[in-house]
Amino acid sequence: MSDRILICTDLDRTLLPNGSQAESPGARRRFAALAARSETTLVYVTGRYRALVEKAIASYNLPLPDFLIGDVGTTIYELSKRGWRYWPDWDEEIARDWRTMGHSALKALFLDLAELRLQESAKQNRFKLSYYVPLYVDRQRLLQTMQERLDSEAVRADLIWSVDEPAGIGLLDVVPASATKFHAVEFLMRRLDFAPENTVFCGDSGNDLPVLTSPIHSVLVANATSEVCREARQSAEQQGTSDALYIARGDFMGMNGNYSAGILEGITHFLPHTRAWWVDAENEEPG
Ligand SMILES: [Mg+2]
Repeated sequence: MSDRILICTDLDRTLLPNGSQAESPGARRRFAALAARSETTLVYVTGRYRALVEKAIASYNLPLPDFLIGDVGTTIYELSKRGWRYWPDWDEEIARDWRTMGHSALKALFLDLAELRLQESAKQNRFKLSYYVPLYVDRQRLLQTMQERLDSEAVRADLIWSVDEPAGIGLLDVVPASATKFHAVEFLMRRLDFAPENTVFCGDSGNDLPVLTSPIHSVLVANATSEVCREARQSAEQQGTSDALYIARGDFMGMNGNYSAGILEGITHFLPHTRAWWVDAENEEPG
């Protein structure tokens, strides 16, 4: 087995401690020590677009990733000393799903649905149509209506639902069916030649579920809601992937399992030898 490992992690409320639960002191510093190892290839997998990722890296003093899967899986960037490099190959891979329909043609399909409020233009891109949806809306019915319209145009799209808890609002993304976090992670594994046993994904919420319940080794951090926990467990069971899902419990190396503590706990579960890489990292808050 090669020493190289691929760590793919969601940002908000997975690596970023921006939920209501407490972060273990020193956990992020330890994560940074793991990320700094030459064996580690680090990928941020997020709903954020690139500028918002850069903002998070600066305000939370995060390690720089090697790759970014942004905009819920619709964009891939490589980061080197020369800066961010966009991967057009990924566009080609996902473009087939939407055939000739573009962003505005799809938007026109849903114009009459009053529950949908378009997100800001920076949060839209060629392969991502994003809405705000109030939490009181009958979500199943709305998604079904949208899916029927997409089907009638033979557009292969996924409707990705998640909740911005601090803002108290639902987020709905219409993306090409193959542009999920799951397919993007798979694509990177293939391109970078990483085996499943050397790859770990970490997440906390709805748009992470396709990866969390896939055969890719995955970690659900302990601060995830009990609803997401239940959904992840059930769907992993149905798909026979329970062994590939680790749900962080906390009480691990003096840490609580939330955010980066959960990430370290889960990575150690799948790749026990990596514990030595961070265990002695200075136990202090990142500056
Ligand atoms: Mg998240």
